[in-house]
Amino acid sequence: MDNSLREISAQYIKGVGPQRFKDLQRLGINSIYDLLYFFPRRYEDRREFKKISHLQEGSAELVMGEIFYVDLRQTRRRLHILEIRIKDGSGVLSAVWFNQPYLRKIFKEGKRVILYGKVERFLNLQMNSPEFEIVDEGKQDSLNMGRIVPVYALSGKLTQRILRTIIHETVKRYAYKLCEFIPYDIRKRNDLPNIVEAINWMHFPADFEKKEQARRRFVFEEFFLLQLGVGMKRIKEKIFKTGIRHQVSPEFFNLFMARLPFKLTESQIRVIKEIEADMAKPKPMQRLLQGEVGSGKTVIACYALLLTVNNGYQGALMAPTEILAEQHFVNLSNFLVPFGVKVGLLVSGTSPRMRQTIKEELREGEIEIIVGTHSLIEEDVVFKNLGLVVIDEQHKFGVWQRKSLQDKGLNPDCLIMTATPIPRTLALTLYGDLDISTLYELPKGRGKVFTYWVSEEKRNEVYDFIKEEIRKGRQAFIVYPLIEESEVLDVKSATQMYEELKERVFGEFRIGLLHGRLSSEEKNRVMQDFKEKRIDVLVSTLVIEVGIDIPNVTVIVVENAERFGLAQLHQLRGRIGRGKFPSYCILFSSAKTEEARQRLTALVRIQDGFKIAEEDLKIRGPGDFFGARQHGFPEIKMGDILKDMQILELSRKEAFSLLQYDPELKSPQHKIIWENLKERFPQLELLSVG
Ligand code: ADP
Ligand code: MG
Repeated sequence: MDNSLREISAQYIKGVGPQRFKDLQRLGINSIYDLLYFFPRRYEDRREFKKISHLQEGSAELVMGEIFYVDLRQTRRRLHILEIRIKDGSGVLSAVWFNQPYLRKIFKEGKRVILYGKVERFLNLQMNSPEFEIVDEGKQDSLNMGRIVPVYALSGKLTQRILRTIIHETVKRYAYKLCEFIPYDIRKRNDLPNIVEAINWMHFPADFEKKEQARRRFVFEEFFLLQLGVGMKRIKEKIFKTGIRHQVSPEFFNLFMARLPFKLTESQIRVIKEIEADMAKPKPMQRLLQGEVGSGKTVIACYALLLTVNNGYQGALMAPTEILAEQHFVNLSNFLVPFGVKVGLLVSGTSPRMRQTIKEELREGEIEIIVGTHSLIEEDVVFKNLGLVVIDEQHKFGVWQRKSLQDKGLNPDCLIMTATPIPRTLALTLYGDLDISTLYELPKGRGKVFTYWVSEEKRNEVYDFIKEEIRKGRQAFIVYPLIEESEVLDVKSATQMYEELKERVFGEFRIGLLHGRLSSEEKNRVMQDFKEKRIDVLVSTLVIEVGIDIPNVTVIVVENAERFGLAQLHQLRGRIGRGKFPSYCILFSSAKTEEARQRLTALVRIQDGFKIAEEDLKIRGPGDFFGARQHGFPEIKMGDILKDMQILELSRKEAFSLLQYDPELKSPQHKIIWENLKERFPQLELLSVG
């Protein structure tokens, strides 16, 4: 049973004493199993010796030759320099080592030596501190030379040679004990080597093709387990949970449409139908609604909420910021009160007395729709009969927060909305337990959005441009970056800028200031003033990042744009282009790092939110992307979610068809898969459906 390898300490390997064990632990290695799965970062091709006369300056090369000169000298600064020179019949190469005088004893004239290192040219061709190997007649070192050599991450006093030896020993003695857990037919269909071969090939491949095959297996293995986890959760939800069966009717939908001030887009109607179908089933809906910023998700949420109320249940809408919650509250109230629906608002700024009332009314079922922030998941918020939960801007929440709100009802339906869409296969993996609806089109008649990245010299021009827009009756946002560690500094820079702009630039106009430190009433007043055009320019911190919908705003200026992530910038840009006028997103930045530059040019170049997300993923790498995006999602170590998309798809297919006939991996031959799954992804949040 290979699990036992997880229980044998790496100290059992020859050459691993307490000090080395510590160094290994720093690399995350504790057990034999960890050693076997500690894969090389890269490989060096040391199969063929180069003739000295053919050496390329600047590249790493492998040569073998006879030592004909050894010299140990000391500089005035007491630096020991050991130099040797070797010849191979085609030329002469020297090699030097600094401050390793003991090497003098190793290199003897007349001995043959193998060197591996980067070639440079001083007087002669030379290598600095190359890896070396004395060729003992008859006994060739087969681990470090004359083969494809693995190169590992190191720590402490470990060297490549030491770690290579340790891992070689481990592979030799223990790899065969690993138990295969990917079923034979799956390996066969997908052309995967078995686990023992793959471990051998991963560390000490005979050729690069073998190494690729091995890598492919481990990528597959990882994705396969992940998809099984995701799939099990999904199946559990689908099979075992009973939810609410909502009554739906075309008349009700038509009535709703008739009251809207606009015509729904095709996409919106399709998505509403998908949601209706889910809500009509006696299973809890778990649906993710992906849609570009401004594509009109709120009205869909509104319909679903109204539907649950119409069925005698309560609905809850959770948004990540107070300002956004307030906006939803106002819009929903305006629209739903004529239907006779009672809407409530609960945010952190709600006064204690008001809170009390609201909580009571929720418990009694008097409030039919509650809009709020994280406040909604507080323990003493209790519903009479929660039928639908809507999460807006879900990427701002953790999985557990979503779950906490859902748990306030008896398997209520759940609609999760996001404006940071990701490619479909990815979405299926990451949100594998969710069904997905996508809004592709924006409502018609929107003005074009232009994006510019400008430098400081253009500042006055930009201000003049804003003034022109204001004179045309439009409004503008000016956004200051959030310095995560210090909201205080943030507020300070926004406040300063506000004072300055007010004094020196926009004297003739009305200018407002918005930040997170204002009280709820102050925030509301500012937003209300801005919405009703009593303010022309709103200076703000990141608090307006998501959701805010004011179609008359045509300019957003983002200061120090390099501080924002790509998805954030796209969200900010999503604040404009919501009306019929052309709109302008202007980024001020003297971006210094390559990455920041990439982000800004990507934003200028790309409009489409799906493409932005892909680009973001490429720039940041999956770890970062998902870390920030989807709290609680396990780290993917082997696979590259973009480059290995094909393997991801194959493994998904296999995982789901396996689960078709063994949804809980309970059969004896699948028990080992289940065990590996638990070990690999212990964040079983994914798997533990209540
Ligand atoms: P998001 O998807 O970013 O949450 P919103 O729901 O805030 O977008 O919608 C953006 C704006 O578009 C709102 O002012 C909304 O009233 C409007 N809107 C939504 N659907 C339509 C439509 N079909 N036609 C015209 N305007 C629409
Ligand atoms: Mg929205």
